[in-house]
Amino acid sequence: MKWTGVLTFAMTAFLVGIFLAYTLSRPGPMPWVDEPTFEAGMCERNSRSEAVIVERSEKAFAKLHPHVRERSESFVRLAYSCLGLEVRLTSGYRSADEQNALYAQGRSKPGQVVTNAKAGESYHNYGLAVDFVIIHNNRADYDLESDHNRSDEPDWQELGELGKALGFEWGGDWRSFPDYPHLQMDFGLSIRQLASGKRPDDKATMPLADVMKPLVD
Ligand SMILES: [Zn+2]
Repeated sequence: MKWTGVLTFAMTAFLVGIFLAYTLSRPGPMPWVDEPTFEAGMCERNSRSEAVIVERSEKAFAKLHPHVRERSESFVRLAYSCLGLEVRLTSGYRSADEQNALYAQGRSKPGQVVTNAKAGESYHNYGLAVDFVIIHNNRADYDLESDHNRSDEPDWQELGELGKALGFEWGGDWRSFPDYPHLQMDFGLSIRQLASGKRPDDKATMPLADVMKPLVD
């Protein structure tokens, strides 16, 4: 009786171990590298075309932290000139009311659930995050398999790499709830610290990948 108990325990522990090893080591939906795969030489800068495209994201720039604003503008510019992709920022700063309205979507209101964050729980609420989408043939494209620039790498992955090279944390890296359109800069502050009133300095910056340095003013 005692031995069967030990055996059962050992078997259970073994199976739980296998299960955990499998779930924890399973790769995320997309493999990931930190440095962007493109080089500065690939970028054909056309500041006039870039400016036209940046203009379409103008609303999302309002009330962002100055550095988040600058780097998200670079993101839109370089997505176009280096990756041949038009992206549009669909969201930036969100007030408490706007965040709660978004949280209600798919819960107390119709629609799809798009966020797990209530007012104060998202970096958007502090002007530290932006959301983007790929624009193809004048339509928003959220298809993770899209490869409009024929690089043999999903466009969303290339854009995530670009965002990270510019110092953003990319929501596409999040294991439990990947948020592919989301880019944020926390400047070392947790949501808890932000909620309790701490703010990054207006002059705070985030690191830039070496390959990006010639491309960002
Ligand atoms: Zn977001």
